[in-house]
Amino acid sequence: MADIISRKEWGAAKATGSYTRVSSTRGVKVHYTGGPVPARIVDDHSVCVQLVRDVQRMHMSGGRETRYVDIGYSLVACPHRKVFMGRGPGHLVAANGPGLNAGHYAVLALVGSSGFTTPNEGVKHAVRDAIEYLRKEGRAGVEIKGHRDGYATACPGGPLYAWVKAGAPRPSGGGSSASPSSTPADLAKLLPMLKLGATDWHVKTVRGLLHARGYVPADLLSTEFDAALKTLVRLFQGAEGLDADGIVGALTWRELIGALPELAANDEAWAVKTLRGLLFARGYDPGALWSTSFDAALRAVVIAYQRAEGLAPDGIVGPKTWRRLLRL
Ligand SMILES: [Zn+2]
Ligand SMILES: [Zn+2]
Repeated sequence: MADIISRKEWGAAKATGSYTRVSSTRGVKVHYTGGPVPARIVDDHSVCVQLVRDVQRMHMSGGRETRYVDIGYSLVACPHRKVFMGRGPGHLVAANGPGLNAGHYAVLALVGSSGFTTPNEGVKHAVRDAIEYLRKEGRAGVEIKGHRDGYATACPGGPLYAWVKAGAPRPSGGGSSASPSSTPADLAKLLPMLKLGATDWHVKTVRGLLHARGYVPADLLSTEFDAALKTLVRLFQGAEGLDADGIVGALTWRELIGALPELAANDEAWAVKTLRGLLFARGYDPGALWSTSFDAALRAVVIAYQRAEGLAPDGIVGPKTWRRLLRL
């Protein structure tokens, strides 16, 4: 049974015209957003709601060249195993490409081209739930395809497409409350590759973490990856036995982040420096960036940060706070 979120519930704008009816289709095509989806979406369903509204607004304002009367998709599947009502069954979509809309319904999975790129169990279940709903209510045929089948596009992205090609099998677990992976190696893979010339919020993250490691950038809050930063990155890489190419990829991120244990007041840990560097990059004053002591002043800063970010303000730095600090 699909857990449907009605248009009223997600705050959909009213369609500006009537839909073209379709009595049946050959099946369903699966899509992804084609843009960034923050990895923290798995912890926060309100991110899903906002994304669906954004997609509708983009489609209706002409972001796909012509103004659509509504969101282009039949249904939207989210990582919390919920299904947002889009155009719904029995209505022509506007997402598969010219001439390809009558053949298949369109289901958007809230998976992106960066950030949350690998579908979790919740979103796989939700896509299956959406397909079954369209078969039952909209006479969808048995085909399950990706947007790229028959149209030149990267959609629905490598990991989701691989699952579609495998027949979109249901996962074995329930998938209603998937917990994010928070190992440093996994987080490092979610962070963008940065090199000379890049402008990115995460350049500040690099600067803060380098400072915490004893490499002091001239400007800690700049989001520009300049030549001076490249020099520092190369020094860091050389000292860590990495290829000193000055490019911050997954391996360098992994070393910069280090271990991310749960931290609380009075802890003495190397990761406290990581925490201080990240808080600084987020605009907070964590005191001495190189101190490994989780003192009372730092706890107060952590609580202020958690409160501002809508996290439980317990002063304990666990997986959710780490991920938020890394903006993942
Ligand atoms: Zn697509
Ligand atoms: Zn959701």
